[in-house]
Amino acid sequence: MYFVIFGVRDSKLKSKPVAGNTTCSKCNSVGSFDVKGTASYFHLFWIPIIPLMKEIEFVCRNCGQHHYKKTAPKPLLASYNTMPLKRPWWHFLVLAFLAYKIVSLLIVLAYYEVDSMIQKSENETKIENQNQERQFHLEQLNADFANASNSPLFEKDSISYLLHTKVDFGNYEINGDEVKINSTVKNNMILTLFQIDKFNIVETADQYLFLKDVRDIINKSYEQPFNVFIGVKSSDGQLFVSSANSKIETYDFVKNSDYYNYPFKHYYENDSVSTYNIISRREHDKLLYEYEGKSQKRVELDTTRLLDVWGKINTKFKFKYKSKIDPLPKKVFLESSETLLPEDLRFFFKYQNLNGPFVKLGELKVRLQQLSYVFYNTPIGKLQDKSYKDSSKRVVSLSSSPRWLPFYEDYTYKYAMDLLPDENGYIGQIIQLGQNGEPSKFIAKDLVSFLELYLNEKVPTDIGDWN
Ligand SMILES: [Zn+2]
Repeated sequence: MYFVIFGVRDSKLKSKPVAGNTTCSKCNSVGSFDVKGTASYFHLFWIPIIPLMKEIEFVCRNCGQHHYKKTAPKPLLASYNTMPLKRPWWHFLVLAFLAYKIVSLLIVLAYYEVDSMIQKSENETKIENQNQERQFHLEQLNADFANASNSPLFEKDSISYLLHTKVDFGNYEINGDEVKINSTVKNNMILTLFQIDKFNIVETADQYLFLKDVRDIINKSYEQPFNVFIGVKSSDGQLFVSSANSKIETYDFVKNSDYYNYPFKHYYENDSVSTYNIISRREHDKLLYEYEGKSQKRVELDTTRLLDVWGKINTKFKFKYKSKIDPLPKKVFLESSETLLPEDLRFFFKYQNLNGPFVKLGELKVRLQQLSYVFYNTPIGKLQDKSYKDSSKRVVSLSSSPRWLPFYEDYTYKYAMDLLPDENGYIGQIIQLGQNGEPSKFIAKDLVSFLELYLNEKVPTDIGDWN
Protein backbone atom coordinates (compact mmCIF):
# COMPACT_ATOMS: atom_id res chain seq x y z
CA MET A 1 0.00 0.00 0.00
CA TYR A 2 1.24 3.37 -0.77
CA PHE A 3 0.15 6.72 0.33
CA VAL A 4 -2.01 8.40 -2.25
CA ILE A 5 -2.12 12.11 -1.85
CA PHE A 6 -4.07 12.86 -5.01
CA GLY A 7 -6.09 10.99 -7.55
CA VAL A 8 -9.59 10.19 -8.64
CA ARG A 9 -12.26 8.92 -6.30
CA ASP A 10 -15.89 7.99 -6.81
CA SER A 11 -18.97 8.83 -4.82
CA LYS A 12 -21.92 6.53 -5.09
CA LEU A 13 -25.05 8.46 -5.90
CA LYS A 14 -28.15 7.46 -4.03
CA SER A 15 -30.52 5.69 -6.36
CA LYS A 16 -33.99 7.05 -6.92
CA PRO A 17 -36.97 6.28 -9.16
CA VAL A 18 -37.12 7.97 -12.50
CA ALA A 19 -40.12 10.23 -12.51
CA GLY A 20 -42.70 10.17 -15.28
CA ASN A 21 -44.40 7.50 -17.36
CA THR A 22 -41.51 5.39 -18.50
CA THR A 23 -42.22 1.99 -19.94
CA CYS A 24 -39.85 -0.94 -19.73
CA SER A 25 -39.32 -2.40 -23.14
CA LYS A 26 -38.83 -5.88 -21.68
CA CYS A 27 -41.63 -6.27 -19.13
CA ASN A 28 -43.87 -3.40 -20.14
CA SER A 29 -43.99 -2.11 -16.57
CA VAL A 30 -44.72 1.56 -16.28
CA GLY A 31 -42.67 3.82 -14.01
CA SER A 32 -40.48 0.92 -12.87
CA PHE A 33 -37.05 2.39 -13.54
CA ASP A 34 -34.62 3.43 -10.86
CA VAL A 35 -31.56 5.51 -11.63
CA LYS A 36 -28.27 5.01 -9.83
CA GLY A 37 -24.74 6.07 -10.50
CA THR A 38 -21.38 7.29 -9.38
CA ALA A 39 -19.73 10.68 -9.63
CA SER A 40 -15.98 10.87 -9.68
CA TYR A 41 -13.81 13.72 -8.60
CA PHE A 42 -10.18 14.64 -8.47
CA HIS A 43 -8.94 14.83 -4.90
CA LEU A 44 -5.97 16.09 -3.05
CA PHE A 45 -5.58 14.61 0.40
CA TRP A 46 -9.12 13.31 -0.03
CA ILE A 47 -10.43 16.74 -0.45
CA PRO A 48 -12.45 16.91 -3.66
CA ILE A 49 -10.91 19.49 -5.88
CA ILE A 50 -12.46 19.08 -9.31
CA PRO A 51 -15.69 17.20 -10.11
CA LEU A 52 -15.12 14.73 -12.96
CA MET A 53 -17.41 12.33 -14.82
CA LYS A 54 -20.80 11.20 -13.63
CA GLU A 55 -21.81 7.66 -14.65
CA ILE A 56 -25.48 6.69 -14.39
CA GLU A 57 -27.53 3.63 -15.26
CA PHE A 58 -31.21 2.80 -15.27
CA VAL A 59 -32.53 -0.46 -13.82
CA CYS A 60 -36.08 -1.83 -14.05
CA ARG A 61 -37.23 -2.77 -10.57
CA ASN A 62 -39.53 -5.38 -12.10
CA CYS A 63 -37.37 -7.34 -14.50
CA GLY A 64 -33.87 -6.02 -13.96
CA GLN A 65 -33.67 -4.50 -17.47
CA HIS A 66 -30.58 -2.34 -17.49
CA HIS A 67 -29.63 0.69 -19.57
CA TYR A 68 -26.52 2.86 -19.57
CA LYS A 69 -27.07 6.47 -20.23
CA LYS A 70 -25.64 6.25 -23.72
CA THR A 71 -27.97 3.45 -24.78
CA ALA A 72 -31.04 4.45 -22.82
CA PRO A 73 -34.27 4.94 -24.76
CA LYS A 74 -34.98 8.53 -25.46
CA PRO A 75 -38.25 8.83 -23.50
CA LEU A 76 -36.51 7.35 -20.42
CA LEU A 77 -33.61 9.76 -20.77
CA ALA A 78 -36.00 12.67 -21.22
CA SER A 79 -37.91 11.70 -18.06
CA TYR A 80 -34.65 11.35 -16.18
CA ASN A 81 -33.45 14.74 -17.32
CA THR A 82 -36.42 16.41 -15.65
CA MET A 83 -35.00 15.26 -12.29
CA PRO A 84 -31.41 14.12 -12.74
CA LEU A 85 -29.22 12.60 -10.06
CA LYS A 86 -27.18 15.20 -8.36
CA ARG A 87 -23.65 14.74 -7.14
CA PRO A 88 -23.04 15.75 -3.51
CA TRP A 89 -22.58 19.42 -2.87
CA TRP A 90 -19.17 18.90 -1.29
CA HIS A 91 -17.71 17.89 -4.66
CA PHE A 92 -17.97 21.56 -5.52
CA LEU A 93 -16.62 22.95 -2.31
CA VAL A 94 -13.08 23.71 -3.41
CA LEU A 95 -14.16 24.66 -6.89
CA ALA A 96 -16.73 27.03 -5.49
CA PHE A 97 -14.14 28.40 -3.16
CA LEU A 98 -11.69 28.89 -6.03
CA ALA A 99 -14.39 30.42 -8.14
CA TYR A 100 -15.20 32.73 -5.30
CA LYS A 101 -11.53 33.65 -4.96
CA ILE A 102 -11.14 34.25 -8.66
CA VAL A 103 -14.24 36.36 -8.83
CA SER A 104 -13.11 38.35 -5.81
CA LEU A 105 -9.73 38.81 -7.37
CA LEU A 106 -11.33 39.92 -10.60
CA ILE A 107 -13.50 42.34 -8.72
CA VAL A 108 -10.48 43.72 -6.89
CA LEU A 109 -8.53 43.99 -10.13
CA ALA A 110 -11.43 45.65 -11.82
CA TYR A 111 -11.76 47.99 -8.90
CA TYR A 112 -8.08 48.92 -9.06
CA GLU A 113 -8.24 49.32 -12.77
CA VAL A 114 -11.21 51.65 -12.51
CA ASP A 115 -9.64 53.42 -9.58
CA SER A 116 -6.37 53.99 -11.39
CA MET A 117 -8.30 55.25 -14.38
CA ILE A 118 -10.14 57.69 -12.14
CA GLN A 119 -6.89 58.60 -10.43
CA LYS A 120 -5.23 59.16 -13.75
CA SER A 121 -7.97 61.38 -15.00
CA GLU A 122 -8.02 63.18 -11.65
CA ASN A 123 -4.30 63.77 -11.94
CA GLU A 124 -4.70 65.03 -15.45
CA THR A 125 -7.45 67.34 -14.29
CA LYS A 126 -5.33 68.45 -11.37
CA ILE A 127 -2.36 69.27 -13.55
CA GLU A 128 -4.63 71.03 -15.97
CA ASN A 129 -6.20 72.99 -13.12
CA GLN A 130 -2.77 73.84 -11.75
CA ASN A 131 -1.68 75.06 -15.13
CA GLN A 132 -4.84 77.10 -15.48
CA GLU A 133 -4.45 78.47 -11.99
CA ARG A 134 -0.83 79.31 -12.64
CA GLN A 135 -1.74 80.97 -15.90
CA PHE A 136 -4.40 82.96 -14.09
CA HIS A 137 -1.97 84.04 -11.39
CA LEU A 138 0.59 85.11 -13.95
CA GLU A 139 -2.02 87.20 -15.67
CA GLN A 140 -2.83 88.84 -12.34
CA LEU A 141 0.85 89.38 -11.67
CA ASN A 142 1.32 91.00 -15.05
CA ALA A 143 -1.76 93.15 -14.53
CA ASP A 144 -0.38 94.26 -11.18
CA PHE A 145 2.95 95.06 -12.78
CA ALA A 146 1.11 97.05 -15.42
CA ASN A 147 -0.48 99.12 -12.65
CA ALA A 148 2.88 100.12 -11.20
CA SER A 149 3.44 103.85 -11.03
CA ASN A 150 6.57 105.99 -10.74
CA SER A 151 4.70 108.53 -8.65
CA PRO A 152 2.43 106.56 -6.34
CA LEU A 153 -0.06 108.61 -4.37
CA PHE A 154 -0.69 108.11 -0.71
CA GLU A 155 -4.45 108.14 -1.24
CA LYS A 156 -4.25 105.40 -3.85
CA ASP A 157 -1.41 103.21 -2.76
CA SER A 158 0.01 104.10 0.62
CA ILE A 159 2.60 101.32 0.71
CA SER A 160 4.14 102.24 -2.63
CA TYR A 161 4.04 105.85 -1.59
CA LEU A 162 5.93 104.96 1.58
CA LEU A 163 8.52 102.96 -0.34
CA HIS A 164 8.89 105.60 -3.01
CA THR A 165 9.63 108.14 -0.30
CA LYS A 166 11.78 105.99 1.92
CA VAL A 167 13.85 103.62 -0.18
CA ASP A 168 17.22 105.13 -0.98
CA PHE A 169 17.38 103.95 -4.58
CA GLY A 170 20.59 105.87 -5.16
CA ASN A 171 22.19 103.52 -2.68
CA TYR A 172 21.85 100.76 -5.25
CA GLU A 173 22.70 103.03 -8.17
CA ILE A 174 19.09 102.96 -9.28
CA ASN A 175 17.41 106.10 -10.59
CA GLY A 176 14.47 106.50 -8.23
CA ASP A 177 12.47 108.55 -10.73
CA GLU A 178 12.27 105.64 -13.11
CA VAL A 179 11.19 103.10 -10.53
CA LYS A 180 7.56 102.02 -10.79
CA ILE A 181 5.84 100.49 -7.80
CA ASN A 182 2.53 98.81 -7.13
CA SER A 183 1.56 97.37 -3.78
CA THR A 184 -1.51 95.51 -2.66
CA VAL A 185 -2.62 94.00 0.61
CA LYS A 186 -4.59 90.86 1.19
CA ASN A 187 -5.25 89.42 4.63
CA ASN A 188 -1.87 89.48 6.31
CA MET A 189 0.06 89.63 3.07
CA ILE A 190 1.61 92.51 1.22
CA LEU A 191 2.66 92.17 -2.38
CA THR A 192 4.98 94.88 -3.61
CA LEU A 193 6.04 94.91 -7.23
CA PHE A 194 8.80 97.03 -8.66
CA GLN A 195 9.57 97.69 -12.27
CA ILE A 196 13.24 98.63 -12.29
CA ASP A 197 14.65 98.50 -15.78
CA LYS A 198 18.32 98.07 -14.93
CA PHE A 199 17.90 95.92 -11.86
CA ASN A 200 19.47 92.97 -13.66
CA ILE A 201 22.80 94.79 -13.84
CA VAL A 202 22.81 95.76 -10.16
CA GLU A 203 25.37 93.75 -8.16
CA THR A 204 23.83 90.57 -6.75
CA ALA A 205 24.66 91.56 -3.18
CA ASP A 206 22.96 94.90 -3.75
CA GLN A 207 19.92 93.22 -5.28
CA TYR A 208 19.64 91.22 -2.11
CA LEU A 209 20.17 94.25 0.10
CA PHE A 210 17.61 96.21 -1.88
CA LEU A 211 14.96 93.57 -1.28
CA LYS A 212 15.94 93.40 2.36
CA ASP A 213 15.75 97.17 2.62
CA VAL A 214 12.24 97.20 1.17
CA ARG A 215 11.20 94.44 3.51
CA ASP A 216 12.64 96.24 6.54
CA ILE A 217 10.90 99.47 5.68
CA ILE A 218 7.57 97.69 5.37
CA ASN A 219 8.09 95.72 8.56
CA LYS A 220 9.06 98.79 10.53
CA SER A 221 6.24 100.90 9.24
CA TYR A 222 3.29 98.78 10.18
CA GLU A 223 2.31 97.38 13.50
CA GLN A 224 0.55 94.37 12.06
CA PRO A 225 3.02 91.64 11.08
CA PHE A 226 2.72 91.06 7.36
CA ASN A 227 4.06 88.38 5.11
CA VAL A 228 5.82 90.42 2.51
CA PHE A 229 6.23 89.31 -1.08
CA ILE A 230 8.49 91.46 -3.19
CA GLY A 231 9.03 91.20 -6.90
CA VAL A 232 11.34 93.24 -9.04
CA LYS A 233 11.10 93.03 -12.79
CA SER A 234 13.90 94.32 -14.95
CA SER A 235 13.57 95.34 -18.57
CA ASP A 236 15.02 92.04 -19.80
CA GLY A 237 12.03 90.28 -18.22
CA GLN A 238 13.91 88.78 -15.30
CA LEU A 239 11.99 88.55 -12.09
CA PHE A 240 13.70 88.89 -8.74
CA VAL A 241 11.65 87.57 -5.93
CA SER A 242 11.75 87.74 -2.20
CA SER A 243 8.96 86.06 -0.32
CA ALA A 244 8.80 85.69 3.40
CA ASN A 245 7.04 84.28 6.32
CA SER A 246 7.06 86.89 9.04
CA LYS A 247 6.31 84.27 11.67
CA ILE A 248 9.45 82.29 11.09
CA GLU A 249 11.40 85.27 9.87
CA THR A 250 12.93 83.61 6.89
CA TYR A 251 12.94 84.82 3.40
CA ASP A 252 14.40 83.74 0.17
CA PHE A 253 15.72 85.45 -2.86
CA VAL A 254 15.16 83.91 -6.22
CA LYS A 255 16.21 85.16 -9.57
CA ASN A 256 14.50 83.72 -12.60
CA SER A 257 13.26 84.57 -15.98
CA ASP A 258 10.38 82.19 -16.49
CA TYR A 259 8.43 82.41 -13.25
CA TYR A 260 9.76 78.93 -12.70
CA ASN A 261 9.07 78.74 -9.01
CA TYR A 262 5.60 80.19 -9.21
CA PRO A 263 6.52 82.94 -6.81
CA PHE A 264 3.31 84.62 -5.77
CA LYS A 265 1.08 81.59 -5.57
CA HIS A 266 0.33 82.17 -1.89
CA TYR A 267 -0.66 85.72 -2.54
CA TYR A 268 -2.87 85.12 -5.53
CA GLU A 269 -4.37 81.75 -4.74
CA ASN A 270 -7.17 82.94 -2.50
CA ASP A 271 -8.94 85.17 -4.95
CA SER A 272 -12.16 85.40 -2.97
CA VAL A 273 -10.43 87.81 -0.60
CA SER A 274 -10.36 91.33 -1.90
CA THR A 275 -7.21 93.36 -1.96
CA TYR A 276 -6.66 96.89 -0.81
CA ASN A 277 -3.90 99.45 -1.00
CA ILE A 278 -4.01 101.55 2.10
CA ILE A 279 -2.83 100.54 5.51
CA SER A 280 -2.50 102.76 8.48
CA ARG A 281 0.82 103.00 10.12
CA ARG A 282 1.58 103.38 13.77
CA GLU A 283 -0.35 106.37 15.03
CA HIS A 284 2.79 108.37 15.66
CA ASP A 285 4.23 107.57 12.26
CA LYS A 286 1.09 108.93 10.65
CA LEU A 287 2.02 112.34 12.01
CA LEU A 288 5.33 112.18 10.19
CA TYR A 289 3.65 110.71 7.17
CA GLU A 290 1.68 113.87 6.64
CA TYR A 291 4.92 115.69 6.02
CA GLU A 292 6.70 113.11 3.91
CA GLY A 293 7.41 114.36 0.45
CA LYS A 294 5.95 117.80 1.14
CA SER A 295 9.27 119.43 0.46
CA GLN A 296 11.75 118.16 -2.08
CA LYS A 297 14.08 121.11 -1.68
CA ARG A 298 17.61 120.55 -0.54
CA VAL A 299 20.86 122.46 -0.84
CA GLU A 300 23.63 120.66 -2.71
CA LEU A 301 26.62 119.88 -0.53
CA ASP A 302 29.65 122.03 -1.24
CA THR A 303 32.51 120.15 0.42
CA THR A 304 35.09 122.89 -0.20
CA ARG A 305 32.95 125.49 1.51
CA LEU A 306 32.20 123.11 4.33
CA LEU A 307 35.90 122.31 4.91
CA ASP A 308 36.79 125.97 4.75
CA VAL A 309 34.21 127.16 7.29
CA TRP A 310 34.87 124.23 9.56
CA GLY A 311 38.57 125.01 9.59
CA LYS A 312 37.83 128.63 10.48
CA ILE A 313 35.49 127.62 13.29
CA ASN A 314 38.17 125.39 14.79
CA THR A 315 40.77 128.11 14.59
CA LYS A 316 38.46 130.73 16.03
CA PHE A 317 36.89 128.74 18.83
CA LYS A 318 39.79 126.39 19.62
CA PHE A 319 37.49 123.36 19.77
CA LYS A 320 40.46 121.07 19.07
CA TYR A 321 38.80 118.66 16.64
CA LYS A 322 41.24 116.68 14.59
CA SER A 323 41.00 114.32 11.67
CA LYS A 324 40.33 110.67 12.44
CA ILE A 325 42.56 108.01 10.97
CA ASP A 326 39.82 105.43 10.58
CA PRO A 327 37.46 106.40 7.80
CA LEU A 328 33.76 106.18 8.56
CA PRO A 329 31.80 103.51 6.72
CA LYS A 330 30.33 104.96 3.57
CA LYS A 331 26.80 104.35 4.76
CA VAL A 332 25.79 104.83 8.34
CA PHE A 333 22.26 103.77 9.09
CA LEU A 334 20.53 105.61 11.89
CA GLU A 335 18.09 103.12 13.39
CA SER A 336 16.07 105.58 15.45
CA SER A 337 15.49 107.75 12.46
CA GLU A 338 15.31 105.01 9.83
CA THR A 339 17.58 107.04 7.63
CA LEU A 340 21.13 107.09 6.47
CA LEU A 341 23.44 109.60 8.01
CA PRO A 342 23.45 112.55 5.57
CA GLU A 343 26.65 113.21 3.67
CA ASP A 344 27.33 116.62 5.25
CA LEU A 345 27.02 115.23 8.77
CA ARG A 346 29.27 112.34 7.86
CA PHE A 347 31.91 114.92 7.28
CA PHE A 348 31.84 115.88 10.94
CA PHE A 349 32.34 112.42 12.20
CA LYS A 350 35.61 112.16 10.37
CA TYR A 351 36.84 114.27 13.25
CA GLN A 352 37.50 113.21 16.75
CA ASN A 353 35.70 115.40 19.15
CA LEU A 354 38.25 116.21 21.84
CA ASN A 355 36.55 119.20 23.29
CA GLY A 356 33.63 121.12 21.86
CA PRO A 357 29.85 121.30 21.39
CA PHE A 358 29.75 119.45 18.07
CA VAL A 359 28.92 115.88 19.06
CA LYS A 360 30.54 112.58 18.09
CA LEU A 361 28.65 110.03 16.01
CA GLY A 362 27.94 107.87 19.07
CA GLU A 363 26.59 110.89 20.89
CA LEU A 364 24.39 111.82 17.97
CA LYS A 365 22.96 108.30 17.97
CA VAL A 366 22.22 108.44 21.68
CA ARG A 367 20.57 111.85 21.40
CA LEU A 368 18.59 110.71 18.40
CA GLN A 369 17.41 107.69 20.34
CA GLN A 370 16.27 109.93 23.18
CA LEU A 371 14.47 112.23 20.78
CA SER A 372 12.83 109.26 19.11
CA TYR A 373 11.81 107.83 22.46
CA VAL A 374 10.26 111.13 23.47
CA PHE A 375 8.43 111.34 20.15
CA TYR A 376 6.91 107.87 20.32
CA ASN A 377 6.00 108.21 23.98
CA THR A 378 4.36 111.59 23.87
CA PRO A 379 0.59 111.52 23.38
CA ILE A 380 -0.40 112.58 19.88
CA GLY A 381 -2.38 115.52 21.17
CA LYS A 382 0.64 116.83 23.02
CA LEU A 383 2.96 116.36 20.04
CA GLN A 384 0.54 118.38 17.95
CA ASP A 385 -0.09 121.06 20.53
CA LYS A 386 -0.85 124.33 18.77
CA SER A 387 2.03 126.05 20.54
CA TYR A 388 4.31 124.09 18.17
CA LYS A 389 2.69 125.45 15.07
CA ASP A 390 5.17 126.92 12.59
CA SER A 391 3.28 129.47 10.53
CA SER A 392 6.18 129.81 8.09
CA LYS A 393 5.73 126.07 7.30
CA ARG A 394 9.41 125.30 7.38
CA VAL A 395 9.51 123.10 10.46
CA VAL A 396 6.89 120.45 11.22
CA SER A 397 4.33 121.65 13.76
CA LEU A 398 5.29 119.01 16.28
CA SER A 399 7.02 119.14 19.64
CA SER A 400 9.58 116.59 18.48
CA SER A 401 10.49 114.40 15.54
CA PRO A 402 12.72 111.34 15.09
CA ARG A 403 13.92 112.97 11.86
CA TRP A 404 15.84 115.60 13.77
CA LEU A 405 19.50 114.66 14.04
CA PRO A 406 21.00 116.54 17.01
CA PHE A 407 24.60 117.29 16.11
CA TYR A 408 25.30 120.24 18.38
CA GLU A 409 24.78 120.85 22.05
CA ASP A 410 26.37 123.55 24.17
CA TYR A 411 25.48 124.74 27.65
CA THR A 412 22.14 126.15 26.50
CA TYR A 413 21.42 125.50 22.83
CA LYS A 414 20.83 122.42 20.75
CA TYR A 415 20.93 122.32 16.98
CA ALA A 416 19.77 119.49 14.76
CA MET A 417 19.69 118.64 11.12
CA ASP A 418 16.08 118.23 10.01
CA LEU A 419 15.38 115.51 7.45
CA LEU A 420 11.62 115.96 7.42
CA PRO A 421 10.72 119.61 6.94
CA ASP A 422 7.32 121.12 6.25
CA GLU A 423 6.49 122.32 2.73
CA ASN A 424 8.58 125.53 2.81
CA GLY A 425 11.59 123.92 4.48
CA TYR A 426 14.70 122.25 3.10
CA ILE A 427 15.62 118.62 3.59
CA GLY A 428 18.76 118.84 5.72
CA GLN A 429 17.94 122.27 7.10
CA ILE A 430 19.28 123.21 10.50
CA ILE A 431 16.89 123.90 13.32
CA GLN A 432 17.30 124.98 16.88
CA LEU A 433 15.62 122.40 19.06
CA GLY A 434 12.90 123.91 21.21
CA GLN A 435 13.29 123.45 24.95
CA ASN A 436 10.91 123.91 27.86
CA GLY A 437 7.84 123.89 25.65
CA GLU A 438 9.28 126.19 23.01
CA PRO A 439 8.84 125.13 19.38
CA SER A 440 11.89 124.21 17.31
CA LYS A 441 13.02 127.01 15.02
CA PHE A 442 14.40 127.20 11.53
CA ILE A 443 17.98 128.51 11.52
CA ALA A 444 19.58 127.75 8.14
CA LYS A 445 18.87 125.98 4.85
CA ASP A 446 21.79 123.61 5.26
CA LEU A 447 24.77 122.75 7.40
CA VAL A 448 27.25 124.98 5.55
CA SER A 449 25.02 128.06 5.92
CA PHE A 450 24.57 127.22 9.58
CA LEU A 451 28.35 126.96 10.13
CA GLU A 452 28.90 130.28 8.39
CA LEU A 453 26.35 131.88 10.72
CA TYR A 454 28.00 130.11 13.61
CA LEU A 455 31.45 131.36 12.62
CA ASN A 456 30.13 134.91 12.51
CA GLU A 457 28.32 134.43 15.82
CA LYS A 458 24.95 135.06 14.26
CA VAL A 459 23.29 132.12 15.97
CA PRO A 460 22.74 131.95 19.70
CA THR A 461 25.42 129.93 21.48
CA ASP A 462 26.57 129.37 25.02
CA ILE A 463 29.97 127.75 24.71
CA GLY A 464 31.33 128.98 28.04
CA ASP A 465 34.82 127.67 28.77
CA TRP A 466 35.11 125.88 25.43
CA ASN A 467 36.19 129.14 23.93
ZN1 LIG B 1 -38.76 -4.52 -16.83
